[in-house]
Amino acid sequence: MTDATPRPIETVAVLGAGTMGHGIAQVTAAAGMTVRLYDIDPPRVEAGLAKVRGNLQIGVDKGKIDAASRDATLARLTGTDDLERATHGVDLVVEAVPERLELKHEVLGRAARHAAADAILGTNTSSLSIAAIAAKLPDPGRVIGMHFFNPVHIMKLLEVVVAEATDPTVVARVRAYGARIGKECITIKDSPGFATSRLGLVIGLEAIRMVEQGVGSPEDIDKAMTLGYGFPMGPLRLTDLVGLDVRLSIAEYLSTALADGAHFRPPQLLRQMVADGKLGKKSGRGFYEW
Ligand code: NAD
Repeated sequence: MTDATPRPIETVAVLGAGTMGHGIAQVTAAAGMTVRLYDIDPPRVEAGLAKVRGNLQIGVDKGKIDAASRDATLARLTGTDDLERATHGVDLVVEAVPERLELKHEVLGRAARHAAADAILGTNTSSLSIAAIAAKLPDPGRVIGMHFFNPVHIMKLLEVVVAEATDPTVVARVRAYGARIGKECITIKDSPGFATSRLGLVIGLEAIRMVEQGVGSPEDIDKAMTLGYGFPMGPLRLTDLVGLDVRLSIAEYLSTALADGAHFRPPQLLRQMVADGKLGKKSGRGFYEW
């Protein structure tokens, strides 16, 4: 094999079997790769596998996949609470553990010891710097951001986040993997908020400022974007789904991390709603009643 045709990815370890991990495992196994889904918490491994089975069954019931592909996908997917067994010899590691830098260092560092010598170390972080994650790993060239969206088996985007040290072969292999699992890849430079959080948040925060200033009701501001611009969902409804607390913490981060980040300064209304426990869908109340 020449350098022009990088080695395809055949075996994958997904670390963390929560909201994102089980979906990443599902789409990867469905595309024909062998997948080991690892979680530190054994019941979460089982819950992750059960969610995959449930998603696939919905696909069969809706006639989107046949029973044979469901069974073949499940046959390629195993779960474990043993990190060494999960990562032994794999071509690609995708971590989807909670958003804490030291935890990412720990699991990727341990995974790197057991994975193939040229294994790609992917992180599904939604906000941490890829360079900061890579800094404590033995070979930063193999570290790359692989930002999936929830629910993973439905959302088409894979945001590939490339740090200065990331090896171009690693980028090519991850893009090939993205195409194979049926995602559209965008390649974005490692920078605060990447493309998706930075752009999504600026509209969301401006919409909140407009509610604060009495420019329009949440319903009408959302309709401005859905009916006027063809957005599938208005920015305030989306803020309710993401969680106002999550948006507030990203806004606080981006307002200081970006040199020209003043427009990410959180509106007072957002701070007040979070302080009042109006976190959006998960608390039953945000800009809408849920
Ligand atoms: P989650 O809480 O649903 O799942 C995290 C899982 O990691 C849990 O099952 C937990 O038991 C497990 N875990 C904790 N410590 C571990 C360890 N040391 N080793 C192995 N597993 C461990 O979280 P999530 O929403 O799936 O988020 C995971 C990552 O994906 C985060 O970095 C998050 O920022 C990112 N992300 C989340 C979303 C989203 O919409 N939820 C979207 C894009 C990216």
